[in-house]
Amino acid sequence: MAALDGLPPLREVIATHGIAAKKALGQNFLLDLNLTAKIARSAGDLRASDVLEVGPGPGGLTRGLLAEGARRVLAVEKDARCLAALDEIAATYPGRLTVLNADALEIDPTAHLSPPIRIVANLPYNVGTELLVRWLTPAAWPPFWQTMTLMFQKEVAERIVAQPGSKAYGRLAILAAWRTDARIVLTLPPEAFTPPPKVHSAVVHFTALPTPRFPADPKVLNRIVAAGFNQRRKMLRSSLKALSPDIERILLDTGIAPTARAEEVSLEAFCRLARALETL
Ligand code: SAM
Repeated sequence: MAALDGLPPLREVIATHGIAAKKALGQNFLLDLNLTAKIARSAGDLRASDVLEVGPGPGGLTRGLLAEGARRVLAVEKDARCLAALDEIAATYPGRLTVLNADALEIDPTAHLSPPIRIVANLPYNVGTELLVRWLTPAAWPPFWQTMTLMFQKEVAERIVAQPGSKAYGRLAILAAWRTDARIVLTLPPEAFTPPPKVHSAVVHFTALPTPRFPADPKVLNRIVAAGFNQRRKMLRSSLKALSPDIERILLDTGIAPTARAEEVSLEAFCRLARALETL
């Protein structure tokens, strides 16, 4: 069946431009345009927004975003083999698609986009968590983006939306709950991708809160939760020892039992602890 945008089917695009998937680049492509349109729709009404897409690959999701009416899309792709295919999409949607052949970890996307900005991406799994933490922990809030709609391995998505006390609760859940509303909007089996990955995937939709739920310095909070959950079986007085020689007293002063483990501590208490450590 011909695609609505008049462009060739993605299998043909991949064959024409020789874009055989490379594992090192985390390439698992979505070739079903109904599915990419569905992901684009789960990002909300795109018509009044600019969109940052990381890792467009052969452009399945990019086509979904443009067909769903995104005002402009900035697509940042590291693999130069994808550029000719993306140029064809740009020609079909004049003035609406800018492609940057770059590493998403190295660029400042704000230079190319106007607010309101939404991030939508089927992320390369190897850089997904790093980009997510970066987007959640800028010094200033609100961030440059209004919503993010991101594909992760299902297990990572479950860690992002995990509740306190659960096994999946950790750094990602705390950073996401601190400054956003985050929920899983779609789960996908391995067969949805070419080649299929070993695991299921899920799309998480994040809405930036106007202000964080509790005040805290993002760097300090990130350090505390990284240290606390890296050794999650240990009591906080020992897992956080490197942060201050006085940690036991500071924990007591902030109303946290020094014998508690990180998974028993609420977001509010972690933020209190971050404020106490920041003033040292
Ligand atoms: N969006 C496409 C889709 O849904 O079919 C491709 C998704 S694939 C999981 C991840 C894409 O990210 C690949 O095209 C890969 O080349 C690209 N990529 C990997 N690392 C990157 C990086 N550091 N910066 C930008 N793109 C990257």
